[in-house]
Amino acid sequence: MSATILDGKALAARVRGELKLEVDRLSPQGITPGLAVVLVGDDPASQIYVRNKTTACAQAGIKTFDHRLPATTTTDELLKLVAQLNADGSIDGILIQLPLPAGVDARRVLFSVDPRKDVDGIHPENVGRLLMGEPRFVACTPFGVMKLIEEARLPLAGANAVVVGRSNMVGKPMAALLLGADATVTVCHSKTRDLAATVGRADLLVAAVGRAEMIRGDWVKPGAVVIDVGINRTAEGKLLGDVEYGPAATRAAAITPVPGGVGPMTIAMLLANTVTAAKLRAAR
Ligand code: NAP
Repeated sequence: MSATILDGKALAARVRGELKLEVDRLSPQGITPGLAVVLVGDDPASQIYVRNKTTACAQAGIKTFDHRLPATTTTDELLKLVAQLNADGSIDGILIQLPLPAGVDARRVLFSVDPRKDVDGIHPENVGRLLMGEPRFVACTPFGVMKLIEEARLPLAGANAVVVGRSNMVGKPMAALLLGADATVTVCHSKTRDLAATVGRADLLVAAVGRAEMIRGDWVKPGAVVIDVGINRTAEGKLLGDVEYGPAATRAAAITPVPGGVGPMTIAMLLANTVTAAKLRAAR
């Protein structure tokens, strides 16, 4: 068996094209979706992520408002900025690029974002809504994974879904989305016993661990759909996922590549959430 490659790059391009049309349709109402992007410090990876997000916004007709702040920025300064952005009627979404510098109380800053502008889907109100089956903004990576699963046409009702990783940004919202789609969900983490056996029962496997190729190809159930969220850079600069891609692809029915799988979908879903926020503004 050779797996179908779930091409996140192509799907993301399609989604972004559709979003551009939605943005165009908002224009006669005098609404241009606006995203504030807050980057604190000079972490090189964060700078690349922010650049990619800003470029994608521009291509979709979303206006970005850049706030680049030094690593010495205090929690109070950030809270003040967020309050301004919350009150600014031209801003639909607020993105605070993580990680924030160690001296900043990230929790306080993130929780101060108006939940109606929380396009990253990490405010407790939005997380709670997701858990209650009334999602508004869903964290971009798991949201993007759901779109990829739709592409794979995997019927989720009753399927055994295994999520490896339980972070607030990826694993937990992923599990909530799959449960909402009627899958039978198992969430694994660093204390899970016999990970291989649990993975081996998965009709759908979502790996979000952050350890290069730790999920061995021969653990994968034949015919499973494998979604690899992991992005791990080797000493040689190569990007690897959390799943041992080659052997897994010989067993899976469908699999995401790294890069070019989940990553591009994450950015597309940030744009989707920002357009949704602008539509909510238009409806007010
Ligand atoms: P994280 O916050 O570090 O969480 C990692 C999770 O993996 C934790 O829940 C941890 O368990 C679990 N884990 C660690 N070692 C394990 C083991 N040996 N067996 C089973 N579970 C184990 O990471 P994250 O933010 O969720 O990100 C995960 C990966 O996805 C990273 O590679 C990250 O770069 C990537 N990522 C990609 C995108 C994208 O757009 N493609 C977006 C976000 C993240 P404990 O809770 O017990 O510690």
